Amino acid sequence: MYKGLIERLALKNGSRILLAVLDGLGDIPIGELGGRTPLEAASTPNLDRLATGGALGMHVPIARGVTPGSGPAHLGLFGYDPVEYEVGRGVLSALGIGFPLRHGDLAARINFCTVDGAGVVTDRRAGRISTEKCRELVSLLGGIGIQGVEVHVMPVKEHRACVVFRNGDLSDDINDTDPGLVGERPVPVNGSGRSSEIVREFQEKSAGILAGHHPANFLLMRGFALHREFPTMEERFRLNAAAVALYPMYRGVASLVGMNVMACEPETLEGQVHAVELALRKGHDLVFLHHKPADSSGEDGNPAAKVSAIEDFDRVLPRFLELKPDVVAVTGDHSTPCPMKLHSWHPVPVLIHGGPQRTGYSSCFSEKQALSGSLGTFLSTDLMPLMMAAGGKLSKFGA
Ligand code: ZN
Repeated sequence: MYKGLIERLALKNGSRILLAVLDGLGDIPIGELGGRTPLEAASTPNLDRLATGGALGMHVPIARGVTPGSGPAHLGLFGYDPVEYEVGRGVLSALGIGFPLRHGDLAARINFCTVDGAGVVTDRRAGRISTEKCRELVSLLGGIGIQGVEVHVMPVKEHRACVVFRNGDLSDDINDTDPGLVGERPVPVNGSGRSSEIVREFQEKSAGILAGHHPANFLLMRGFALHREFPTMEERFRLNAAAVALYPMYRGVASLVGMNVMACEPETLEGQVHAVELALRKGHDLVFLHHKPADSSGEDGNPAAKVSAIEDFDRVLPRFLELKPDVVAVTGDHSTPCPMKLHSWHPVPVLIHGGPQRTGYSSCFSEKQALSGSLGTFLSTDLMPLMMAAGGKLSKFGA
């Protein structure tokens, strides 16, 4: 994408776009599915109907061969170059638990760990303490005061927590204190700047508090990152966007680009139908819908569960279509092949329905048909302009 081009051409009109992301949708052929992918094996009459009347393609989330995290992969789908708009791990972690970050906040991930009498790390995960125990330790750390800065410590899960330092001129040029290996000492915080001093003081005070709490008697920090505000989708694309997502991380990433994050009651696919309906009724012209289960079953290495997750979405799809969005795009943020149990670099099938399309290339939604679809293979950041064009939201370039 040429920098600034889409921003120049973006038009405001009444058309409405629904972007449905089935997290981790892409896959590879699997023996127990008869050499098919979960998307190929799933019975998806509604997606297939959209594919027949629309256009298919493949998107490359970051770059060829690069495996993305879900955060950057979503930014790509929102039209934000994930490398230019890089979000640090500490920031993603804080967004992931729904912490309301502000511009300039310094965030890092915490691991509770075990150190022996000589201060050597013997377990980087403190025996994977319970989330309950994590909450208890975090509440003890909540009392840490450091002059001139607010300190927020939040539990994440098991031995994982995160910390946010707020106020003043903070820098994220701070090394990880996690040595990454057992049998080593935690790495001291280097540097002499104010941020380093703050983090050092936090490290010392937390060590004092945790000292008697075996096995979680120390903490390691990594992924220091400053939160910076991004230009909103309204500013860039003239899109008044809303997000309908159940997991905090996706709500957080959506709020990074200025989406209005909708409440979902109940927190189910059914609740999401109502939230999408409300968002469209409120005049949002782009609604991002996030569906998580395909990714989770891919990470569990469970093809049958991934097939069911896709079929569950397909069954509810007509409810979204009844809301009559002008353009519907369905895709994943990345592939999560069941045999790998991990995210991967494989391009992701995408379907766009609505607006003038080169139809007739596809009869169902699958990796195979997406590869020979009329949209071809493109970078994930091109999806936003393709959806906008389908909705008549891009003017002509030049006379
Ligand atoms: Zn994902």
